[in-house]
Amino acid sequence: MRHVELRSDTMTRPTPAMRRAMAEADVGDDVFGEDPTVNRLEVMAAERLGKAAALFVPSGTMANLISQMTHCGRGDEMILGSLAHSFYYEQGGSAAVASIHPRTVPNQPDGTLPLDELEAAIRGDNIHFPRTRLIALENTHNLCGGAPLEPAYLRAVGDIARRHGVKLHIDGARLFNAAAALGVPAQQLALEADSISFCLSKGLAAPVGSVVCGNSDFIREARRSRKVLGGGMRQAGVLAAAGMVALSEMVDRLVEDHANARRLAVGLAGIAGLELDPERYKTNIIYFEVIKPGLGAAELAAALQQEGVRLLASGAHTLRAVTHYEVTAADIDYALNVMARIMK
Ligand SMILES: *Cc1c(COP(=O)(O)O)cnc(C)c1O
Repeated sequence: MRHVELRSDTMTRPTPAMRRAMAEADVGDDVFGEDPTVNRLEVMAAERLGKAAALFVPSGTMANLISQMTHCGRGDEMILGSLAHSFYYEQGGSAAVASIHPRTVPNQPDGTLPLDELEAAIRGDNIHFPRTRLIALENTHNLCGGAPLEPAYLRAVGDIARRHGVKLHIDGARLFNAAAALGVPAQQLALEADSISFCLSKGLAAPVGSVVCGNSDFIREARRSRKVLGGGMRQAGVLAAAGMVALSEMVDRLVEDHANARRLAVGLAGIAGLELDPERYKTNIIYFEVIKPGLGAAELAAALQQEGVRLLASGAHTLRAVTHYEVTAADIDYALNVMARIMK
């Protein structure tokens, strides 16, 4: 039986080139700043995003929390989307761990926050209010169907942030998917950000790790935040080595994942009892609804699993599929055949 893993791009296993690089990595103690491979990855990542410095961290969640606590002090406010990963899926760590007050603005289906509402949410100087220190965007936007945020929108948010003396963090867990979908260098999507993070461990297929980029002062403070969160790693070069392969070999191929996601979306839209607008999906994440009476997302996912196709039931009637380098066009066709048979 074929096995088609569409639950998440975090399921990607390291490539043979990564395994080799990990085995051969030059390492030292990174808490002492002495892991040459981590240092090289950080230089590579900073250059790639056009920032002065970078920090290798264990996860995207920690990358966000480190960035938030570096920009904000106790009781400061951060504005972010109502569907932001940071708000939705990170245990409220900004509040629980860093004492940051989160304020949400409704995400639009395209992943943006309406500019007027965003600007109106920034607090004036008043003893009753927390101080707004940070705006956080997400690119691509996971819960908005992997929507990429365009440079013009980022510029508009950057203008608002500058005008009000507020910092901008971009959660770019899938930043390179956004760049691939928009046909722009990732650097252009980082331009407005005071800090920007991306995951090596998702579509880029590294086993572990994220990187936060920013200016040198920011990264110096972020390094302190990483340490207090327990994210200071020792011979982390074995992980960073895979991250360097991810950046050099796995970025240009992301367009294939987008083509496969599109192939899947168009195919699913043609199956009776499933509902989605394939035009909406521009990267590697799609969501769709099952609207057949008596059939829920969990039952459908279980039936698909029987035939080797793994999807995520993300709501009572909503399923998610994410493409990545271990999924081929033939796998997509197989998944569509299985789906059509089950839905009949
Ligand atoms: C996955 C994800 C994260 C968190 O990354 P982890 O490495 O799983 O902690 C943060 N933001 C977005 C948008 C994500 O998709």
